[in-house]
Parts: sequence; structure tokens; C-alpha cells
Amino acid sequence: MQERLKELQQEALNQINAAESLKELQEIKVSYLGKKGPITEVLRGMGKLSEEERPVMGQLANDVRAAIADKLEEKVARLEELEVEKKLANESIDVTLPGRPAQTGGMHPLTSVVETIEDIFVGLGFEVAEGPEVETDYYNFEALNLPKDHPARDMQDSFYITDDILLRTHTSPVQARTMEKFKGQGPVKIICPGKVFRRDDDDATHSHQFMQVEGLYIDENVRMSDLKGVLLEFAKKFFGPNQKIRLRPSFFPFTEPSVEVDISCVICNGEGCRICKETGWIEVLGAGMVHPRVLEMGGFDPKKYSGFAFGMGVERLAMLKYGIDDIRHFYLNDKRFIEQFKRA
Ligand SMILES: [Zn+2]
Repeated sequence: MQERLKELQQEALNQINAAESLKELQEIKVSYLGKKGPITEVLRGMGKLSEEERPVMGQLANDVRAAIADKLEEKVARLEELEVEKKLANESIDVTLPGRPAQTGGMHPLTSVVETIEDIFVGLGFEVAEGPEVETDYYNFEALNLPKDHPARDMQDSFYITDDILLRTHTSPVQARTMEKFKGQGPVKIICPGKVFRRDDDDATHSHQFMQVEGLYIDENVRMSDLKGVLLEFAKKFFGPNQKIRLRPSFFPFTEPSVEVDISCVICNGEGCRICKETGWIEVLGAGMVHPRVLEMGGFDPKKYSGFAFGMGVERLAMLKYGIDDIRHFYLNDKRFIEQFKRA
């Protein structure tokens, strides 16, 4: 019996040594150490042994089992180690290879310019107001002193959705809506940035969709000189400290008097060049004192309150600031163009 056990141990160890996979080892384990295995079989014959022999044989059987179990464990560990080594070899990383930079997005130049404009006006005490891009005829035109059949409506070719609903042609309806909210109580000091829509044929300087920033300041004793001061401050902060502005008389239905505002040419500093048509000045925005009729329709008493309003095209400002020659660049989503404006 002793010999048989020794034989079994040797046989098992040989098989374990020869095994090449964890699966094989598992099979060896079951066949030698399992309940139906040969060792258990041998131990069944212990009953025939004498009292003295039994513990000796029991001890031997346990030793054989332990020896096989130890060897199995050792081999399993070795195979697992080999597997990891193999895996690592397959997935080896060349740490000297240069990395691939992750692609990150950036702000669209128009968004970035709008934020710059907002920062400047917030610094001057204005708040940012917003409103819907799909508007009613009332807020887009009537509340701004443009009743139906008013000839000035032709100045703005509109996208109508129904007879009464259209895509806003300017951000002025936000001014009308804000005035209503204040219920005749000044001061109102807001800027309204946003998209506007007109039925224009797209070319280098026209786009059917573009962005405006309008401003509105209503309070007691607001004067034209306040308007000029605010716009000069804006021009200096946006284009540079040496900027000058000039006001020329103009006409808008919602302001009286109305002005066109020019800045000194940013290309030639007022010397005269092709961009400013040799005048030294570039027109950038329209402005004026809020028409008493508009104040009234907004719920403000024109005898007590006065105000100024202005509106500018964001694309035009961006084009002047960055020397961009075609408004369509802003809307074509060409990454080569947009990526130039990524902020660090
Ligand atoms: Zn010029």
C-alpha cells in the first residue's frame, strides 16, 4: 500500500510537470485529489490494516495529497505568471513614441467677440438681456414705431412664418420686451446680443443670418452726449485706446434724432486707405435718442424719461478687428478658419 501511494505521487508529479495549461492542471487535480481518485481508493483499504499501521498509513496518505496539492499550486502560479508575461510582451508600449495631442474645441470667433462686447458694456453698468428669435410682428415692428404699411419696413426684408410671426430682423424687440417688464420705471440699462435674420442674398458682406448687439439706456436726463461717451468708451476698449468716433445725422424710425457712428479707420489709423475709401472713417453702427413714441409704447412717460439706443453688427466688428474679408467665413464651419481664433 505504501508503495502504491508513492507510485501515485510520482505519477501525479510527472503529469503536473508536463502540464501546459491551467485546464490540464485542473483535470489532474480532480483525478488525483477528488473523491473518486486513486488515493481515496487506496485509503478505503485501510480497514484491513493493523492498529499500528493505520496512523502511519494515514499520515503517508496525507503527505502524498499535500505534496501533490503543493506542486499543483506552484505550477498554477507559474503558468499564470507566464500568461501575464506573454500578455505584456504582446501589449508592450513604446514609451519613446511621441504622444498624439487630443483634439480640443474652441470658441467660435463670433461667440468670442460677443463675449468681449458684453464684458465691455457690463463694465459700463449694462445688463445682458435676451429674447426669442421667432418674434411677433408687434414686437419686431409695431412697438418700435413701425406700424403696418410703414415704408421703412421695406428696409428690412423679413422671413415671415405667418402673417403675424417672423424671424426677428433685429434684436430691437428685446428692447421693447424689456421696456414692458420695467413698467415705466427707469433706469433701464441693457444690451441685447443675438442672431437676426433678413432675406439677403449672401455675398462677401451680406448674410441672411447675422448677429447684432443692441443697447438701450433709459433714465431721467439721458442726453446725446451720454450716448457719445458710452460709444467712444466702447470703441477704445474694443479696438484700442487711440480710437476716435464721429456721429453723422441719419434716419431710423425708432430714434429721433438718429445718427450713424463711424470709428477712425482701424487699418490706416485715419490716414485714408482702400478699406475706408480714403476717408479715414469706417461706419460701424447706428444709434440715436429713443423716439418718444417708442418710449410711450414701452410704457415710459417721454416727459419724464429720455434714452438712447444703438445697434451694431457683430460680424462687421469682428471683420474689422481681425482683418477678415468675407462674412461667409463665419458660417461655413471651415476648421482652418475657426481654429485660428482658439483662445489659449
Ligand atoms: Zn483706412
